[in-house]
Amino acid sequence: MQNLLDFDAAQLTAWFAARGEKPFRATQVLRWLHRFGAADFADMSDLAKTLRAKLTAEACVTPPPLISDRASGDGTRKFLFDVGGGNAVETVFIPETARGTLCVSTQAGCALECSFCSTGRQGFNRNLTTAEIIGQLWQANKALGRDPKGERVISNVVLMGMGEPLANFDNTVAALTLMLDDNAYGLSRRRVTVSTSGIIPAMDALSDACPVALAVSLHAPNDRLRDELVPINKKYPLKELMAACLRYLDKAPRDFVTFEYVLIDGINDHEHDARELLALTRRVPCKFNIIPFNPFPGSPYRRARSDRIRRFADVLMQAGVVTTTRKTRGDDIFAACGQLAGQIHDKTQRSARATRAFMLEEQRPCFNPRP
Ligand code: SAH
Ligand code: SF4
Repeated sequence: MQNLLDFDAAQLTAWFAARGEKPFRATQVLRWLHRFGAADFADMSDLAKTLRAKLTAEACVTPPPLISDRASGDGTRKFLFDVGGGNAVETVFIPETARGTLCVSTQAGCALECSFCSTGRQGFNRNLTTAEIIGQLWQANKALGRDPKGERVISNVVLMGMGEPLANFDNTVAALTLMLDDNAYGLSRRRVTVSTSGIIPAMDALSDACPVALAVSLHAPNDRLRDELVPINKKYPLKELMAACLRYLDKAPRDFVTFEYVLIDGINDHEHDARELLALTRRVPCKFNIIPFNPFPGSPYRRARSDRIRRFADVLMQAGVVTTTRKTRGDDIFAACGQLAGQIHDKTQRSARATRAFMLEEQRPCFNPRP
């Protein structure tokens, strides 16, 4: 059985052509699948009965099964999806006044082992399929429904959940292509963001295959510190990464790169780090997104103090660079950046125990206050 959620428009058209079906039939099916969220070929009323029967015999529409759907006190929703083999991935919806952002995962686990990231600590399991990546959007659209005007509530997508999107390049690009396709989700390129730890050849390839907004996880102003926090830096060091950002901007839909910087107490949160960061990024049109470190069970670091977070952001802003400090959202349901874990079955009990132990320690000053 072919899962049709695994195909972007070109791939679906080719699959139809191999069965003697015209391209416009593929477009009709694409619309049913993604615009209307249909899962049953019997509902696709404008298709010939023979085609519906053929599809029922040869194909299926299978998004990853939803295991849980939890709402946080601040309106954030966290979905957990089963991706088989005892693994689960998380998807987070963050409502804001003028937009609704879905944070999507691209891998079960991550091989890049950034020392401050819960997903990296859990190791790599496997790449998600296109159906599992786009299926998170498909399922979330269904769960979230429409606003009073009949519009979908998800206006933005960020590939900032579990995993490194550019290490799962082909499936990520197919999913991105569907997000942008007017017959599918019709999102603007500027409202779809890939976040990467900086896999340079794949950044170049993305700018050709599917240029969307780009966020680059920096977290350190020099190679010595970044080698420690983001080990892929040893392969793709900062000077080359800055050059790659400039190349990307030639083809990007936005005229800036967003640099993400997780602020960790005593590690990368000094004023001199902020000044070195400004020098490093001097030639790249950019914005900074400061993310106060979110602790997780067993994490070796503490969140930077709120006065240091403010000071760090001030130094960047005084230099004239737009800087936002990310509000921690959804941390009462462990849905904040870098807290996504997503293991199920027997592993869950272990992590639930660790989580409980951790929550008991929640009163420690490093967890609060929030910025
Ligand atoms: N692999 C990609 C995208 C997923 S991580 C990347 O690294 O960019 C998405 C963002 O969450 C990254 O900026 C990452 O550095 C950040 N993050 C990871 N762990 C975190 C933590 N414990 N606290 C706050 N942010 C974290
Ligand atoms: Fe992977 Fe991103 Fe986490 Fe690093 S921060 S381990 S690249 S998911």
